[in-house]
Amino acid sequence: MPVQKFLDGVSRFQKDVYPYNRELFERLATKQKPSALFITCSDSRIDPCLLTQSKPGELFICRVIGNIVPPYPDAIGGVSATIEYATGVLRVPEIIVCGHTDCGVMRGALHPEAMKDFPNVAHWLNYAQVDHREREPSEEFLLRLTERNVVKQLENLRWHPTVAARLERGDLALHGWVYHIGTGAVTAYDRESRTFKESVPA
Ligand SMILES: [Zn+2]
Repeated sequence: MPVQKFLDGVSRFQKDVYPYNRELFERLATKQKPSALFITCSDSRIDPCLLTQSKPGELFICRVIGNIVPPYPDAIGGVSATIEYATGVLRVPEIIVCGHTDCGVMRGALHPEAMKDFPNVAHWLNYAQVDHREREPSEEFLLRLTERNVVKQLENLRWHPTVAARLERGDLALHGWVYHIGTGAVTAYDRESRTFKESVPA
């Protein structure tokens, strides 16, 4: 049974991990004060805590295919509620939108006809930043598309009322990243040059 693998993992966590972090977990039992809202793709290859070396309690994570932030108020749902809770209630000081290489959603956005049997995915892909399509996109094209998508979602974030209010007050910062799965590199969006720079090279 595949689920047994995960149950075994829980068992190892309780035996080998929890006892060494008991104090942290007991402290977190009734409250959290995360340092960032981390919005990333649901892709199984991304582990935000591993990537940023964060401990439980540090990242408030919103995982959604394509790391898409639907424009407000057109699409009120789980993503907008998570953003509002993180910025309004938890008052996180940072938001990181993290795209990644080899994103199936970016490929899907280039071939919407392949998603015709999946209406929810097809609708969701409309929010991705795809201004022109290529049948056989190069890796470079896909990377640029992934970067543009991150920038688009950063723009969409600014329309959320609690985000806009916090930005106005100057106590919230937005960041756009792309995680390069094969190399471990993270490139970050530089607003001045409007390019992604390898500020965290592998
Ligand atoms: Zn993805």
